[in-house]
Amino acid sequence: MKFKTVTHEFVEYVPDSLQPGVVYVSVKHATVVHSCCCGCRAEVVTPLSPASWTLVFDGATISLYPSIGNWHLPCRSHYVIRKSQVIWAAKWSEKRIEAARARDKALAREYFGDHQPTVASRSAVEADGGGEKPKMKRGWWRRRDR
Ligand SMILES: [Zn+2]
Repeated sequence: MKFKTVTHEFVEYVPDSLQPGVVYVSVKHATVVHSCCCGCRAEVVTPLSPASWTLVFDGATISLYPSIGNWHLPCRSHYVIRKSQVIWAAKWSEKRIEAARARDKALAREYFGDHQPTVASRSAVEADGGGEKPKMKRGWWRRRDR
């Protein structure tokens, strides 16, 4: 089931099981995590930084910029969260995905230079199909003493 709206929760640590339709915002760890809005329940991590995502909280709703392209997931969903509304965008072609990846990398390089933190670029969050898997199951924004 595709979500048309989301709610948000400000948390210090992201919970282990994500409630679908809830966007968890950790200001402390500059990280936003939510369960994919297509309903596939995949965990989508969007770190906040000038080279990755920007969160806007207007006191009632949240917006995330730019769009969230889950091309590393089987669902390949692509959407924008704007004022807590999920605006569904077209699925990206392979060509466009490649272009976006390249642009993300260039942007991150421009901002971070040669010393790129692992989570701070949009491309770093995505699995590359093969090779390294993202270590997102229990990250540094999660409480470890449970
Ligand atoms: Zn999905």
